[in-house]
Parts: sequence; C-alpha cells; structure tokens
Amino acid sequence: MSKQYDVVIVGAGPAGYVAAIRCAQLGLKTACVDKWVGADDQPALGGTCLNVGCIPSKALLESSSRYEDISHTYADHGITASGVKLDLAKMMARKDKVVSDLTQGIAGLFKANGIKWFQGSGQLQPNQQVKVTAHDGAESVLDAIHVILAPGSSSVEIAAAPLKDDVIVDSSGALEFKEVPKRLGVIGAGVIGLELGSVWRRLGSEVVMLEAQESFLPVADEQIAKEALRQFKRQGLDIRLGARVVSCEAGNKGVAVQYQDSKGEHTETVDKLIVAVGRRPSTNGLAADEAGLLLDEWGFVHVDEHCRTNLPSVYAIGDAVRGPMLAHKGSEEGMMVAEVIAGQKAEMNYDSIPSVIYTHPEIAWAGVTEQALKAAGTEYNVGSFPFAASGRAHAAGDSTGMVKVIADAKTDRVLGVHIIGAHCSELIAQAVIAMEMRASSEDLAMTVFAHPTLSEAIHEAALAVDGRAIHIAPPRKRK
Ligand code: FAD
Ligand code: AMP
Repeated sequence: MSKQYDVVIVGAGPAGYVAAIRCAQLGLKTACVDKWVGADDQPALGGTCLNVGCIPSKALLESSSRYEDISHTYADHGITASGVKLDLAKMMARKDKVVSDLTQGIAGLFKANGIKWFQGSGQLQPNQQVKVTAHDGAESVLDAIHVILAPGSSSVEIAAAPLKDDVIVDSSGALEFKEVPKRLGVIGAGVIGLELGSVWRRLGSEVVMLEAQESFLPVADEQIAKEALRQFKRQGLDIRLGARVVSCEAGNKGVAVQYQDSKGEHTETVDKLIVAVGRRPSTNGLAADEAGLLLDEWGFVHVDEHCRTNLPSVYAIGDAVRGPMLAHKGSEEGMMVAEVIAGQKAEMNYDSIPSVIYTHPEIAWAGVTEQALKAAGTEYNVGSFPFAASGRAHAAGDSTGMVKVIADAKTDRVLGVHIIGAHCSELIAQAVIAMEMRASSEDLAMTVFAHPTLSEAIHEAALAVDGRAIHIAPPRKRK
C-alpha cells in the first residue's frame, strides 16, 4: 500500500513548522498536525513561541520599555513629556495583533508551500501512522513514510502554588493581566521570570521574585550574572535568592505566599503571582503504547545527534528533546531532520547555540562559561571591554554592561562570548558566526568594525585577550 504522505509532523511550533516548510521545499509531500487553539477559540500555527512565548513577551517588553523610557530617561536627552498615560488594553491589543499577524503568516507559508494542516491532536501509532483527533472529536489516521514529533513543552506546575484564575498564573496568564498589579510575586528568577517580572515592573508593579537557588542565573557566566543581579536590584526588582516557596493561599486580599530561606519561614502578600519555575516536555499521550516510543526519565523523547528516535523513520525535535528549550534550537533541528529525510548530509552544531535574556540590560551568550572551563581544567585567556568605554553606548545614553571574549590558551580559538548590555541580543550573532567558523580571538581582533557601533565592544574585547584594547587603560605595571 502506498503511503499518503512522505512526512507527517506532529506540532507546529518553531520546530515543527520550520521542519514542515523545509520538507516541502525539498519536494516532500508534507502534512502537519497541530492542536493549538488560541484565546479566540481559533486554531493557530506557531506553537508556544508565536502564541504565548517569544513573540508576545517581546512585544510587551518592547512596549513597556518605551513606557519606562518616556517616563524616566527621555528627560536626559532634553525631551520633556507630560501627561504620559498607560493604556494597557491598547498595549495588549497591539501584542495580540503582532501575534495574529505572525501566526497567519505561517498559515500563508503553509498554503504557499502546499503543506496540509490538520487541526487537532496527533498520536503516533506503530508503522509511522499518526492518529488525528480533530477538535470536534472526529478521528482519522495519516500514513507516512517519516514522522517528525515536535510537541514542544508546557509550564511546570508546582503543588506549592496551584494556578488560580487570573490570580496565580503561569507565563501565559502573565501576558494577559487586565490591569497592572500593585504588588506582583514571581516564583523563579530564571529567564522567563526575569522577562515577565521586568515587563510589569516597568509598567508600575512592585515586583518580588522568589528563587529557590542560592545562585543567580547559574546558566550564565558568573561575572555577567553578578552584574545582572546588581542592575536588576538597582531597577527595583526585589530578587530574593535561596527562597523556596512552600505554599500559597489566595484570598480576598491577594495571595499569601509562604517561603523558606536560611533565616526561616516568611509570608509575602502579593496581588498577583506568576509561577515561572521551568518547562517540561509535552509528551504525555504523544505516542500510543504499542508504538514503543522511548522517553527518558523526565519525559523527553530519546534521540541521537540527528534527532532519530528509537523507532525507524521517526524523529523528534524542539523542546521535547534534550538540549536548551529555545525556539531557534528547535528550528535548526527541524531543518536538519528535513534534510536527513531527503537524503542530504546534515548536521547541527549544538556548541554555539546562543542564549538571550531580553531584560534591560539584555544578557546574551554563546559557548562556554569561565566557570565551566575552570571546572574542566581547560586553560584559557579572557578579554573584556565595558560599554562605559564605548562612544556609541554613551551617545545612546545607555552604557551599562560589558563584552567578554574567552579564547583557548593554546589555540586562541573563541570558546565563549558573554555580553550584558543594550541590544546584545543582536550583537551575539557576530560571536556565533565567529564560533561557527572556528575563528580565533585574533580573527576578531583583525576584523574592521564600523565606528561608532556597539559591536566595537566585541572588537575591543577580542583585542583585550592579549592586552591590546585601545579604549581602556592598560593594567598597571608593577614597579
Ligand atoms: P512549541 O512551540 O511548544 O510548539 C509545539 C506545538 O505542538 C504546539 O502548538 C502544541 O499545541 C502542539 N502539540 C503538542 N502536542 C501535540 C499533539 N499531540 N498533537 C498535535 N499538536 C500538538 N525561546 C526563545 O528562543 N527565545 C525567546 O525569547 C523565548 N521566549 C519565551 C517566552 C515565554 C513566555 C515562553 C513560555 C517561552 C519562550 N521561549 C523562548 C521558548 C520557546 O517558546 C520554545 O523553546 C519553543 O516554542 C519550542 O518550540 P517547539 O516547536 O519545540 O514547541
Ligand atoms: P527556568 O528553568 O530558567 O525557567 O527557571 C525556573 C526557576 O524556578 C529555577 O531557577 C528554579 O530554581 C526556580 N524554582 C523552582 N521551584 C521553586 C520554588 N518552589 N520556589 C522558588 N523558586 C523555585
């Protein structure tokens, strides 16, 4: 019996929809099953990223940043604004429009590429079949040569803080508040907690962040994390480390949050509470038992370096498999798998995937941290350069932060670049390209950068690897 489709993809987030488009480009007959239904009850493509993740959070970060700037920093530029008012409903409507424009854009791309979109839930069956349960309950079975599983992830819920209406919310709920909470609690000072906490602080909330770990942002370079904590506290984010939330009680006067730290047990009362304690793979019910799909102990689909599962011709990509839970990581995997299926030689370099935190200042890095190199006993050199010495940063009136380039002591190859400062979500791409091309710090130092740009700080940090940075004083020589 001939198969209906060359490829059936389950999930249309940035992993699944990119895989679908690349498969179609390669001439494969492609279908994509996705169960997402938006707040307007309409099915939408784009998954977490477009609907309740990267895009709406960045829309609100942008709007809230403009509000904060006009209220606080424009005066330094000689611009006085009076009567500034926040229209939260309009801000939210703008965010919703950004989302719907983009999700409709993906629908347009599916159409243009001849990809068949099935709206409903997909479940892997034996022999590369996928059972589709449509939103009205109707069932059908798709028969494919290859299946790509891209079901993504969902917010972790904890017994200490069960979600409650619009009072105790996850990250999705935190993108929908109808008014600015006077006092806002955030459980978890990770990437998502920091971004959402920043949005509401800029819009006027007093924000208390309770983080169970003693160390702040342990995934980032220690020096950068230390500077970030200093900046965030200075802005008024009340970040309490070593504070483990043990229970919450929602009442008429808000939420009483109980937490423990080294000094004992405390209660903090807030109007709204965001639970941002991480995400877990959405693999429950993804495959019928008879299919025999192997998951690991945390529920991630087990895959090899080419995203092959334990089943022939079944692949898995994105947040549902090992590696960082980032949209661009899943998209790259989607492209790689499509090319592998089409018989091409495709690989992915997991060593230089950039991470970005879109706070102010932004934090971005790629490659290894200094603490990881120390732990591994690798010898390295470091060059750093502060934005305080950058002409462009001064002209912009925003010169907090620094760039740090780490290079192998023997080969000079760039092993890691860590940045904290304005617009470093854009700057980090330069480091990723350098690392992808296996550049040395000398290669970066020899490159001509335009003046005046923030990028010059990368050049100067590369020069600083062997003490040649121009715009900072040399280390004092001992007499
Ligand atoms: P998802 O985007 O989760 O998409 C999976 C899709 O599959 C969904 O539509 C889901 O409904 C569907 N699905 C699941 N199971 C089935 C099934 N059985 N049948 C049919 N359909 C199914 N990442 C970044 O890189 N940058 C950021 O700035 C960023 N910001 C974020 C901000 C927030 C608030 C959040 C929550 C996340 C953020 N992320 C960010 C993470 C990013 O959203 C995820 O890494 C990314 O969406 C994962 O892509 P994915 O395709 O694997 O899964
Ligand atoms: P991330 O995984 O980057 O989204 O960060 C989630 C953060 O939430 C982690 O740093 C966890 O330590 C933190 N966390 C998890 N459970 C709790 C809890 N009960 N109280 C406070 N913080 C928590």
